[in-house]
Amino acid sequence: LAVAATGCLGAGLLVVLADAGQDSISPDPGVAVSTSPGSSAKKKVVILGTGWGGMSFLKNLDSTKYDVQVVSPRNYFVFTPLLPSVTSGTVEARSITEPIRRIIRNKDVKFVEAECTKIDGVNKKVLCKDASHLKCKGKEEFELEYDYLVVAVGATSNTFGTKGVEQYCHFLKEIEDAEKIRGRIVDCFETASLPNLTDEDRKRLLHFVIVGGGPTGVEFAAELHDLVHEDLMGLYPYLKDDVSISVLQSGDHILNSFDGRISEYAEQKFSRDGIEVKMGSRVLGVTDEKISFKSKSTGELVEIPYGMIVWSTGIGTRPVIADYMKQIGQTDRRVLATDEWLRVKNADGVYALGDCATVEQRKVAEDISYIFKLADRDGDGYLNVAEFVETMENVKVRYPQIEHYMERQHMKGVLGLLNDAMTKGKDLKLDLDHFSEAICKVDSQMKSGPATAQVAAQQGEYLARSFNHLASDNPDDGPMRIRGSGLHRCKPFCYRHLGQFAPLGGETTAAELPGDWVSIGRSTQWLWYSVYASKQVSWRTRALVMFDWTKRFVFGRDSSRM
Ligand code: FAD
Repeated sequence: LAVAATGCLGAGLLVVLADAGQDSISPDPGVAVSTSPGSSAKKKVVILGTGWGGMSFLKNLDSTKYDVQVVSPRNYFVFTPLLPSVTSGTVEARSITEPIRRIIRNKDVKFVEAECTKIDGVNKKVLCKDASHLKCKGKEEFELEYDYLVVAVGATSNTFGTKGVEQYCHFLKEIEDAEKIRGRIVDCFETASLPNLTDEDRKRLLHFVIVGGGPTGVEFAAELHDLVHEDLMGLYPYLKDDVSISVLQSGDHILNSFDGRISEYAEQKFSRDGIEVKMGSRVLGVTDEKISFKSKSTGELVEIPYGMIVWSTGIGTRPVIADYMKQIGQTDRRVLATDEWLRVKNADGVYALGDCATVEQRKVAEDISYIFKLADRDGDGYLNVAEFVETMENVKVRYPQIEHYMERQHMKGVLGLLNDAMTKGKDLKLDLDHFSEAICKVDSQMKSGPATAQVAAQQGEYLARSFNHLASDNPDDGPMRIRGSGLHRCKPFCYRHLGQFAPLGGETTAAELPGDWVSIGRSTQWLWYSVYASKQVSWRTRALVMFDWTKRFVFGRDSSRM
């Protein structure tokens, strides 16, 4: 494409682009801010949340340019990918947490241990409630003003309103959840060892049920299997035949956000390990001793006794976000909708990232397709090589991310045609409908980043860079505006998927790596160890996590119930 680049934009097309009228991205992200450190005119930035999104933003933000306050009920950061390992005691809870005050100690940033209970978008204030255990009577609530609000409060566990779930199930979202699960597993084994129980009681107590066959549910099932077979069986040998683990999955496969080869391998491995996976199971309710579900294929209603249930079926909306969504008319959604600059739609000065937000779909692909359709001057639905190359150059100015789009799988057909036409001197007839379809597929793949730490961290880093840019004297470096003239101040956010891991137990991990690579086995487990060690937020947690892994190899896991 670059070889045949023709350069500048035709004046006619420029006019049409300017009138395209599909833009929801003005006003510009952010407004002028004072750049002098210590100046009282510095804009106030309030960050809600100390998770992946909030911390990545904070770490990359030039805090001398803004007056920054962080609000969170948690005064530490949690490395969530290792939470399942805490449930089994493979790593200790404190090894995967980093105090916020250590993270901000060299920064000009204030931290408040409180929960935001209301966002007042009209008066640009947040209402907060003391989250500490030691409360000052009558002074539990206070307000903070902001110029820019960065909302990164994450999400809750989604129970889909299923009866009994809140009351009887365990969740796996926070450190406390993981520690409760760890205690409950040992509790189940100790209670099952009491002398006056029947076989039926023992089997119930030692039936562990995981609802949800996504990455968290699968990883927890694998950790539990390892804990039981590598450690607890040696300590409770008389309970060997009473333990069972089941995974209830509503879909047809577990790990269905992964490559099909990984799902298939995981299902086979679980079957070999004796972990029963019941596909197409929709949970109807939970009581203190039983869980009932309906099988989609047979329509049969099944009730099974359990000792512990871990509920891991996706994410729900935090009350503060649900309330704010009502205020700004985003009621028909589960998470806040933002534009490509992570600005919350229908709000002023509010940005959202991570699990509580999603970048609104549609725009880029539709705009690009629209621009290509405009280039088809005779309106026959096809473009020739020269028209295509000229249009592509124009699109690049408006959407620099088009370069990433063209590298993706769905665009291979289009590129193949183009190369063929250019090398053989043929006249390309690009079918615009086919092209639109391909680009829409790439768009949804690129932007619908799942609710993962990877997305939240990339968004936090991106937003901090945008804030740093806005506070500097650097020229605008975003794409051309559709409404108004000139460039946007910043580039839009574009998610880059770097692959994902699925630890399957028994020192085996599956990995989906960039470029459609899949790797499964023990060597991938070592890759997992090295990536997760390197991704730790500090040398302290890195050392602690590596020490815990070594300790587990040498002495096994600790089965004390604290
Ligand atoms: P969080 O990290 O959840 O942070 C939210 C923050 O907001 C917290 O500090 C919370 O205390 C704070 N908060 C909550 N309510 C309020 C309020 N009202 N006011 C102020 N602050 C508030 N992703 C991966 O990419 N790879 C993995 O391997 C992986 N494994 C996971 C394993 C488990 C068990 C879990 C639960 C998640 C895993 N994830 C993984 C997903 C990943 O953890 C989330 O996508 C990520 O944490 C989202 O980041 P966030 O900043 O949006 O929210």
